[in-house]
Formats: sequence, C-alpha cells, structure tokens
Amino acid sequence: MKLSRRSFLKLTGTTAAAATLAGTGFRKAHASYEATRVDYAKEIPSVCTFCGVGCGVICHVRDEVIVSVEGDPDHPVNEGTLCSKGSAYSNLSYIFDEKGKPRPNPQRVTKPLYRGPGESDWEEKEWDEIMDMVAERIKKTRDENFEHRNENGDIVNRTNAISWLGSAFCTDEENYLFHKMARAMGVINMDHCARL
Ligand code: SF4
Repeated sequence: MKLSRRSFLKLTGTTAAAATLAGTGFRKAHASYEATRVDYAKEIPSVCTFCGVGCGVICHVRDEVIVSVEGDPDHPVNEGTLCSKGSAYSNLSYIFDEKGKPRPNPQRVTKPLYRGPGESDWEEKEWDEIMDMVAERIKKTRDENFEHRNENGDIVNRTNAISWLGSAFCTDEENYLFHKMARAMGVINMDHCARL
C-alpha cells in the first residue's frame, strides 16, 4: 500500500488518540478499583515472614481482616516490590468461608503457647507472663554459667550457656540492637539465618 506523508500523519495521529483514550479509561477503572479495595482500611506496615529477604509490606486491614497487601515503597529492602509469595501474604490471616467471604483464620496463633518440661500439651499464656519467664530464665542461666576468666587466667567475661539467633523478620537496626544486648550479657554464640 502506498502511503503519502499526509495519510501517514493522519493514521498515526488517530492511533495515538485511540491509545490515549484507552489508557485514560484503563487508568480511571484501575484507580476506582484501587480506591474501593482499600476503602476504610487501616494501613499497618509489617515485614513479610516467608523468607529471609525481609521485604516490607503494607497490610490494609478492615474489620480485623487483611483485605489487601502491597509492597512498602519506603522500605529499603524491597522499595515497594513483592514476589508472588509476598503478594499472597494476606492468606496467612484469613480463610474463605462457604460463601466465599474472607474470615479471620481461626488457626492463627495469636498468643504465646507454652509446653513445660515433660508435658505433652501446650498451654496458652499471656505475653507479660511469658516475657517475665523468658527474662528470668535467661538471667538465671547467664549468672550460673558466667566465666570471668578462662583457663589461662585471661579476662573473658562470657557465657557459653546461651546462644542467640537473630531474625529475618527484623530490620538490620533491630538485629544490631539484639547483637548489642547479647554482647552486653556476655553471649558469644550468635548467628542469623541471613548471617547479618
Ligand atoms: S516478598 Fe518474597 S522475597 Fe520478599 S520476604 Fe516475602 S517471600 Fe521473601
């Protein structure tokens, strides 16, 4: 087909106008979908727990149900992106009932569970109670096993009875603070799944 310069300009102009209109329509539809999806929802920032990368997520919560999850654009690890697992993060907290409506997952653990030595059953505890129990046991173990000097008489001020594991669920800064606290207690056995 022979195309004059004039016909070519008319054709490309029409195509560009059609594309612009289509794009505007799509953006409008998309914007209204986005607005509905997170309407009246509270934004709660969190960290994805699926792997050691520790991407930041923003959970949109309505009536105690996460209705949407998106990557946190301000988080230094992922800068707003999420992989397919992180994008499905909301599935941790709710299930769908027989009518297809999301409901909080009844199997989600929301309180500390404790199983005493020699016992077979787990018992629900309050956070304050379990935190006191953990703090007392750490202190007792540390005090009973603290070494001021090694076998050569060198000052070491350490305990080998406790090991400390950092968490990918925490930020670098939080893990830095854990590290400082462990060092202050004389703990020398420390690690982290991402070797931070
Ligand atoms: S979003 Fe993906 S890469 Fe990021 S922490 Fe979750 S599972 Fe890992």
